[in-house]
Amino acid sequence: MGWPFKRPSRIILSGTIAGMDTAELTSRLAGLPIPSVRYFSTIGSTNDEALNWISAGAADGCLVVSDEQTSGRGRLNRKWITLPGAALAVSLVIRPDAAEMEHLPLFSPLAAVALRQVLAGLGLPVEVKWPNDVLVGRKKISGILTEAAWDGDRLQGMVIGVGVNIGASALPPADQLLFPATSVEQELGRPMDRFNLLRDFLSALFDWREKLLTPQFFHEWERHLAFLQEPVRIESAGQAVYNGVVLGVDPAGNLRLQLPSGEEVHIAVGDVRLRPA
Ligand code: ADP
Repeated sequence: MGWPFKRPSRIILSGTIAGMDTAELTSRLAGLPIPSVRYFSTIGSTNDEALNWISAGAADGCLVVSDEQTSGRGRLNRKWITLPGAALAVSLVIRPDAAEMEHLPLFSPLAAVALRQVLAGLGLPVEVKWPNDVLVGRKKISGILTEAAWDGDRLQGMVIGVGVNIGASALPPADQLLFPATSVEQELGRPMDRFNLLRDFLSALFDWREKLLTPQFFHEWERHLAFLQEPVRIESAGQAVYNGVVLGVDPAGNLRLQLPSGEEVHIAVGDVRLRPA
């Protein structure tokens, strides 16, 4: 409605979202602490929109949703692909309070833990792959990218970006995947209303946010960590930096890994990625 760059959301390419627009989505999300929603049928990146919105004063809980992303991002400038009609691509604005400010790396696992809980509630075998992905049956069903908006050296806010593959047609071609992928509908074997899933996910995220710094949150995260007690490889820029067994996470959100020597190392998110050994 009031901003200049919004595309007309009624120009919709896919039948499955006919009728979805900002007003409809706002009413579907009623009751959640979301002061304002921006819905797009297509956008470069929902995270970019949310980061710009923060600079323009977006309040905590403001939400960007798009049917399609043309330049969605993963970590380290890898691509996150959001094809139209079959995925969720959402970015949530967070204005961290003083306590959260000390624990910014926990916002990615916050989203992962919340989404895991909702998908597990549907009966799916869901795990959280440290630091930022959600797996079903060891395949990637969702990617999460949390980014910060800075004003000089002052943090203005955070954006939690979440992509979820809902239908089979959300899956990118295999040659564009570094890790096997799947979708909610393929795993469930039935259709799924993605905006209902979005509602449940955001509701779970706001609930877990209240408990973000509690042992309960870390327990939930660790309990559902993929590759727990299994051998993995930690890579940076394609090179193995560690081989070891996953022990869990620490209160800072670092991965606890046991090296073959028996030594325990704690690995910060930084620019590393985890792969099965
Ligand atoms: P990781 O940390 O596992 O390397 P990222 O979180 O950076 O992955 O996400 C980017 C990667 O996710 C891409 O390099 C690509 O392999 C994969 N990917 C991109 N789009 C999708 C999608 N829709 N579903 C599953 N995997 C995807």
